[in-house]
Amino acid sequence: MIILGFESSCDETGVALVCTERGLLSHALHTQVAMHAAYGGVVPELASRDHVRRVVPLTRTVLLQAGLNLTDVDAVAYTAGPGLAGALLVGASVAQSIAWSLNLPAIPIHHLEGHLLSPRMVDPCPEFPFVALLVSGGHTQLMRVDDVGAYILLGETLDDAAGEAFDKTAKLLGLGYPGGPALARLAEQGDPERIVLPRPMLHSHNLDFSFSGLKTAVLTRLRDVQALHGPVTESMQADLAAATQAAIVDVLVAKSVSALEQTGLTRLVVSGGVGANRLLRERLAQRLAKKRAQVFFPPLEFCTDNGAMIAFAAAQRVSRGLVDLRAPRSHGFDVRPRWDLASI
Ligand code: ATP
Ligand code: MG
Ligand code: FE
Repeated sequence: MIILGFESSCDETGVALVCTERGLLSHALHTQVAMHAAYGGVVPELASRDHVRRVVPLTRTVLLQAGLNLTDVDAVAYTAGPGLAGALLVGASVAQSIAWSLNLPAIPIHHLEGHLLSPRMVDPCPEFPFVALLVSGGHTQLMRVDDVGAYILLGETLDDAAGEAFDKTAKLLGLGYPGGPALARLAEQGDPERIVLPRPMLHSHNLDFSFSGLKTAVLTRLRDVQALHGPVTESMQADLAAATQAAIVDVLVAKSVSALEQTGLTRLVVSGGVGANRLLRERLAQRLAKKRAQVFFPPLEFCTDNGAMIAFAAAQRVSRGLVDLRAPRSHGFDVRPRWDLASI
């Protein structure tokens, strides 16, 4: 069965073709990062309009790459939420229109389920059950995953997401938007021990997180440094970046290890944009090797938003009989800007 998938929940337009038997056939992505950078954050109305501009050309590209026609497609999947309402509506209306016109099933997918299952796109594929560490721009959660669609929330951030902490600190350091990857690059040149930042909720005895205090701590240190030494030098900036990254990674690693201990599971699956972070990957690999546990990551290109993970999540649902494969009746476009993953 061939599934055409659409992602448009935020600032990436992603389209992909996945075959339930053969896996990923083709995918294409357009990121709006450059467009929003001038505003220091995502402008929802601009995001929606850009999805409209990109979605049809990207669909043509993936069909061409796979050597297929629209009539070869057996089902259409789309991100139904959570995300920006207007942005979600673009993917949902295009996907549902194609489904109606070709009499195909339309499969709504939870964006975080897309992230969560993405490490299963490649070999070695993590078997169920596993603990998932979902670390993206909008979410930081630990989940127990017993199967496709069987998700139990173990803990989550009480305020900012890990990616948000990277981005907001990067902004304080003048690294632009979204500064997470830039902060990680700068941290490579810094000393993570020159400035020590707090590890929020490290000893909270639960699996929740809190990252909003970190940016305030960085701001305070930044002001201290400026008062004592004048303008912040490049090396001090790199030290602050390294200290921030170390604090975030320490907490993520410690809580992931606790989640494995509490559940008695031996597989950890990491997904979401922060899953691209090199230090996080290294630290988790080291810690889990000692505990004889395994850690799995999606390929770097599928850590941040993409269409492949949406089409792939739909394929996993179809293979397990979790999808209503009757063609949809016209009842309007259904998106859920706020939507709890554990509820599905
Ligand atoms: P959500 O999925 O929660 O709706 P999102 O889709 O915006 O949020 P993703 O696309 O999964 O989030 O990830 C984007 C986030 O990942 C940004 O906050 C970005 O700074 C962060 N990020 C990307 N690469 C890295 C890296 N190498 N190190 C740290 N953070 C990174
Ligand atoms: Mg994005
Ligand atoms: Fe995402």
